[in-house]
Amino acid sequence: MTDADYPLIQLHIAGEWRPAETGRTAPVLNPATEEVIGHVPLATAADLDRAAEAAAGGFAAWRAVPIARRTAILHDAAGLLTARSDRVAAVMTLEQGKPLAEAHGEVLRVAGALRWDADDARRAYGRVIPSAPGTLLSVRREPIGPVAAFTPWNFPAGSPMRKIAAALSAGCSIVIKASEETPGTACELVRCFEEAGVPAGVLNLVFGEPAEVSARLIASPHTRLVAFTGSIPVGRQLAAAAGAQMKPCLMELGGHAPVIVCADADPVTAARRAAAAKFVNAGQVCTSPSRFLVHESRYEDFTTAFTEAADAVVTGDGRREGVTMGPLANERRLAAMRELVADAAARGAKVLRGGERLDGPGYFFPPTVLTGVPPESRVMREEPFGPIAPIVPFTDLDEALEVANALPYGLAAYAFTESAATAERLVRGLEAGILSINHCGGSVHEAPSGGVKSSGYGREGGPEGLDAYLVTKRVSHLLGE
Ligand code: NAD
Repeated sequence: MTDADYPLIQLHIAGEWRPAETGRTAPVLNPATEEVIGHVPLATAADLDRAAEAAAGGFAAWRAVPIARRTAILHDAAGLLTARSDRVAAVMTLEQGKPLAEAHGEVLRVAGALRWDADDARRAYGRVIPSAPGTLLSVRREPIGPVAAFTPWNFPAGSPMRKIAAALSAGCSIVIKASEETPGTACELVRCFEEAGVPAGVLNLVFGEPAEVSARLIASPHTRLVAFTGSIPVGRQLAAAAGAQMKPCLMELGGHAPVIVCADADPVTAARRAAAAKFVNAGQVCTSPSRFLVHESRYEDFTTAFTEAADAVVTGDGRREGVTMGPLANERRLAAMRELVADAAARGAKVLRGGERLDGPGYFFPPTVLTGVPPESRVMREEPFGPIAPIVPFTDLDEALEVANALPYGLAAYAFTESAATAERLVRGLEAGILSINHCGGSVHEAPSGGVKSSGYGREGGPEGLDAYLVTKRVSHLLGE
């Protein structure tokens, strides 16, 4: 796909595609070329109010659709998305930069996630509770109502779909502000739902000035749930605004995942698996392994194998055959990488690989390996959200656990050990919502993902994934004497 094939970006409100009321737009860039590939409309307050009202009407219509029909429509949308996966992946690579194969995998995964949620909603059982004769005491689970959702640019299909799939499966309507930096993929997703027969107003897509959009939609009397994926500082702002209105939130925020490589682990296998995960999406993943704590007896072997794996990464335009890591998604990440490396180097860390942006155009930053990184370095304390791997040695496991748990983050954690007893100690000791042992694989839709501590609350995926979108109603019915 060339820049010229990039889709027209519009708002989708009450079943209609339209520009923003004032015609205001912002440019969309290809991060591999820095060229403008399209323009994203910036919604006005009136556009947003219309979207919130449309979602209120959409909710009334959607919850009245029989569950079997709802499920069938959502399966049809998943089918359309699967059939169009080549095109949607190409749009994603153009606007976000990730290699085509990664983008394609993401599109197929989200189609699977949609099917899973749609099926799971059929099992949103309530219960009947034993009670006195002549009374019927039951518990029902009902859709919470219109959702206001805000998603970032790193998984242009994955993040929006998690929210759309759960909301629509549960019987809710949604106004989603997908990222202004990756709006094309979001438009492609919405088209699949529209063509599958989702009624007007059920799924509304907006773009705009993020802070204005979230303030308006959270304050709307129609909004019943706020769902956000993004950074901790923005999550705090949105949760505070929602709290002021007594509206519940689902918060999927950042992480700084430790990888603990124990003395009994095979350091080469651990290094290869950790490096494979580290450079996925150029490290711009909330669960990316990002602090490598390696037992001192394995430190050298791990570092050598990790560096070899980093050397094997092919950085370039994600559309090119053979490329395994694309550019960073925007210039802000490039600046952040430079600052983190400079700070670590100034404190005495050694830059074993990478560390400098590659010649432009494009926001390319190579796999970067740092050793001897002091704990007070920014890269050891702040989520790097990029292809930087700081590797540090530890002497005993309690010390490693202390370092791993020292930050306010608590999203993902990884550990490598051959001992079941050590694994259990790590399971109990690590403060994280997602823990992988002896691998660094990604999420699966059958199981819940989410954080503890400042990394957020609520879960996406698994049977828990519908919880935020459903409310519980206790019904006691006096049937008569
Ligand atoms: P950012 O925090 O400004 O933005 C992150 C996302 O939130 C963007 O999509 C943005 O449009 C949106 N956003 C920002 N302010 C908002 C507001 N007031 N209301 C609604 N949405 C708002 O940062 P960024 O430069 O885009 O990304 C940098 C940091 O964000 C990273 O270091 C990382 O910590 C975090 N991030 C996390 C995830 C994740 O999956 N948890 C994804 C992307 C970014």
